Amino acid sequence: MRVFNFAAGPATLPLEVLEQVAAELTDWRGSGMSVMEVSHRGKAFVALAQEAEADLRELLAVPAHYKVLFLQGGATGQFAAIPLNLAGPDSTVDYVNTGAWSKKAIGEAKRYAKVNVAADEAASNYSTVPAQGSLKLTPGAAYVHYTPNETIGGVEFPYVPATGDVPLVADFSSTILSRPVDVAKFGLIYAGAQKNIGPAGLVIVIVREDLIGHARAGTPLVWDYGAMAKDGSMLNTPPTFGWYFAGLVFKWLRRNGGLAAMADRNRAKAQRLYAAIDASGYYRNPVTKEARSWMNVPFTIPNPDLEKTFLAEAGKAGLVNLEGHRSVGGFRASIYNAMPIEGIDALIAFMKDFQSRHA
Ligand SMILES: *Cc1c(COP(=O)(O)O)cnc(C)c1O
Repeated sequence: MRVFNFAAGPATLPLEVLEQVAAELTDWRGSGMSVMEVSHRGKAFVALAQEAEADLRELLAVPAHYKVLFLQGGATGQFAAIPLNLAGPDSTVDYVNTGAWSKKAIGEAKRYAKVNVAADEAASNYSTVPAQGSLKLTPGAAYVHYTPNETIGGVEFPYVPATGDVPLVADFSSTILSRPVDVAKFGLIYAGAQKNIGPAGLVIVIVREDLIGHARAGTPLVWDYGAMAKDGSMLNTPPTFGWYFAGLVFKWLRRNGGLAAMADRNRAKAQRLYAAIDASGYYRNPVTKEARSWMNVPFTIPNPDLEKTFLAEAGKAGLVNLEGHRSVGGFRASIYNAMPIEGIDALIAFMKDFQSRHA
């Protein structure tokens, strides 16, 4: 029996896609082999890879002068690859700090370039995003990095920062494909797959062509955007299963109305859950209203001693992986594209019932 899985990542995947994968697992497209057992350089896999890229480009309306790379090493690998490709050791790079993932990106960038923290939301305990006007940007910085959605804090930018001629770099790991974005506003977008795309092991990088080909000496070849772009992300063996799975998810998104339809669904899901939390007088979400994430909804109860009971009872009701991140406690419902509205309704019904019995 399937449960409603609110995990932050690896996260729930579309059931339709899982069933298709299961159906063709041992005999992919009449080959007598699984997709995991064929050469990445064979005709069939190369066609699959190109189709996946074309579908992603269509979904996000990626302009022609951007490359799409299918890489490994996760978003964390990109924390290093970005300064290595886009900045020199003496360059200044601007980072906006809105929480846990921003901090990790900053920590890694410091090893490779001079980091200026352009804004830091510590004063609100990372429950806000900075206003455009409060960003202390460095003229001539190599790039500006920010985290559009903080997966742990549940804080999401309601706007895209304007950075003039300085390329904007964004960690879209937990919000990619949740709604349309104007890719042309970015120099580089990256996202680990395991939140909103597919299984772990794949990271997607969408990068403007003029930013490619400047990797500094010493950059590992597998993270050199120029080398990878030249070889169609197949300089070495790519994560073939993840690429295949991602391609099926892109088709699922296209069948279901693309990103405009996803935005409508995701907005409705998030609004319904936040409204229930706010109206309860019991559950509490700490994030300022304008910056509430559509994808990750943290919440607390007045008596933390009841948290274990909440999780155990939720599990019995088929609602799993609701514990908050180990660094913050409480609860967190991650409600990515693949979480149906029925999952939200089941969670809200459970929360009401729990409150009536324990408040
Ligand atoms: C999950 C996550 C990461 C880390 O991804 P890995 O693939 O584990 O390296 C980085 N940034 C954000 C915003 C995330 O949600």
